[in-house]
Amino acid sequence: MSDIRAASVTVELAALLHNFSRIKELVPHSKLMPVIKANAYGHGMIRVARALAEADGFSVAQLKEALGLRAAGINKPLTVFQGFQNLQDLELIFQHHLRPAVSQLWQIELLEQYKGSASVDVWLKVNSGMGRLGVQADEVEEAWQRLNALKCVATVGLMTHYANADIAGHLSNQQQTEVFRQLHQTYSAETSVSNSAAIVSQLYPDQDWVRPGIMLYGASPLQGVTADQLGLRPVMQVQATLIAINKLKKGQSVGYGDRWVCPEDMPVGIVNIGYGDGYPRQASEQTPVLINQQKTHLIGRVSMDSIAIDLRDISAQCGDRVELWGIQLSVDDIADHSQTISYELLCRLGNQLDIQ
Ligand SMILES: *Cc1c(COP(=O)(O)O)cnc(C)c1O
Repeated sequence: MSDIRAASVTVELAALLHNFSRIKELVPHSKLMPVIKANAYGHGMIRVARALAEADGFSVAQLKEALGLRAAGINKPLTVFQGFQNLQDLELIFQHHLRPAVSQLWQIELLEQYKGSASVDVWLKVNSGMGRLGVQADEVEEAWQRLNALKCVATVGLMTHYANADIAGHLSNQQQTEVFRQLHQTYSAETSVSNSAAIVSQLYPDQDWVRPGIMLYGASPLQGVTADQLGLRPVMQVQATLIAINKLKKGQSVGYGDRWVCPEDMPVGIVNIGYGDGYPRQASEQTPVLINQQKTHLIGRVSMDSIAIDLRDISAQCGDRVELWGIQLSVDDIADHSQTISYELLCRLGNQLDIQ
């Protein structure tokens, strides 16, 4: 057997570009600021930013992510969802021409204290129902006036975020739309509303900037709809290696807690990936894996650095690569078997394994 390859992640940039064009088709009249926080959902922030040459800008959660992009020579408009926490942050925002979201009145106080001569565009983030970041609807007027009075603020955009866009037809989507629509009509401002789910569901067609995340990476933003049905292609593929084949007898057990007991004499495969690599420990026994184009499934509990798979009726030998998700197994499917969402799996694996 040749040397054993560790578990690894492959990122298919052609699929990323395909998904980007798909988003453009859905929102031809809006600018796109792909969301590349959390290391581009585990796909490599700088790699993704360089690949998306046609993006109008990018958005990240934290200042330090934006600084990383600037250091890598990314010169497009960059939105920072969490904005700034103090005057030092603010200096960096000005110095690197970042566009912060302002979601607390004390952040406006910091801007009021700024003594420099530079100016930036900001987003005034409004809580229309998500209840996370954003000034309350009755604070908007004050925030708007104070921001617009500042020399260091060039323009003020209005931004909001849906809480239930992943559920088509959810009542709160309509309520949030109405709250924001009212503000949109009152203030003359650039607007940004939609994440992936809201883009797909066309919850707010007339906005200046959309913020697609998950769909860019080829997972579905909507419950009950597959990525494939939405014309999206998976970007991340996770593979590991079959490192052992055990011929077990009927009645023998596999893994911690003896959760799997062989119902007959059978071959059991051991694959070198586990929860220590970010593979979900919650993954149930029916979670699919792919080996040599054949689909099989986990058996027993996920260990720290390995999983066991059923090799009955499967042709395989040690050293073969095993796909945990990717082109033929959707990450959404694995998430469904693991009581989580694709977002978490992508972030975890991509940020823990080597990306190839
Ligand atoms: C993460 C995030 C997004 C992207 O959401 P997806 O569901 O991945 O498309 C958009 N806007 C804000 C404010 C976010 O925090």
